[in-house]
Amino acid sequence: MSKQFAIIGMGRFGSSVARTLYEMDFEVMGIDENEERINENIQYVTHAVAADTTDERALREIGIRNFDVVVVAIGADIQASILTVLILKEMGVKKIVAKAQNERHGQVLYKVGADRVVFPERDMGVRVAHNLISANVLDFIELAEDYSVAEVVASSNMIGKNLRQLDLRARYEVNVIAIKSGDKFNIAPSPDEVIREGDVLVVIGNNRHLKTFEEQD
Ligand code: ADP
Repeated sequence: MSKQFAIIGMGRFGSSVARTLYEMDFEVMGIDENEERINENIQYVTHAVAADTTDERALREIGIRNFDVVVVAIGADIQASILTVLILKEMGVKKIVAKAQNERHGQVLYKVGADRVVFPERDMGVRVAHNLISANVLDFIELAEDYSVAEVVASSNMIGKNLRQLDLRARYEVNVIAIKSGDKFNIAPSPDEVIREGDVLVVIGNNRHLKTFEEQD
């Protein structure tokens, strides 16, 4: 069964994450305390629910623990974002991804239990700056609607094999552009590169192929 996502906070960032996952055929629940936001997004998600996520009971009613990944995309209300992450963690949610407004907010989110913190504005700023100074492939990839770059944690059946043996290009039509191993980043890895436990493969491909790859391997 494919992964189920819950997105809390259907502002610009949250709704964009939700819609993209939904377009990739994942099951997505959108949650926002603001009914208007729910109505704006209702046709772009599988389910949309109005709830205040700083209320543990509301989260329990939604069955938030059953989701594989919960994205906390509450922006301006930092207190609500922190409290939501804290409650999700206490409830035993498997994977919590949270959006931070700034570094300090990010630090607190990690402390209260976020598994991953994203800084969309900072990261996009870095990316735009790079794009401005390099004639680039990434811009081109962004323009190609059906293509994405994805990060995939090496599955157990990849460990100990090299890229040649894995033959991902032939099997899934995806290309490995980098391997993250601990804090080392191996860009343009050689075919003899052996995958180790915990490695993250950065792959590029058509969205459909990426999805098949992520689900099967
Ligand atoms: P963005 O910059 O991505 O647009 P916003 O801060 O504008 O971010 O949007 C965050 C969304 O989170 C808003 O739609 C807001 O209604 C929602 N939100 C804020 N606090 C809560 C909460 N306690 N429970 C549920 N949703 C919330």
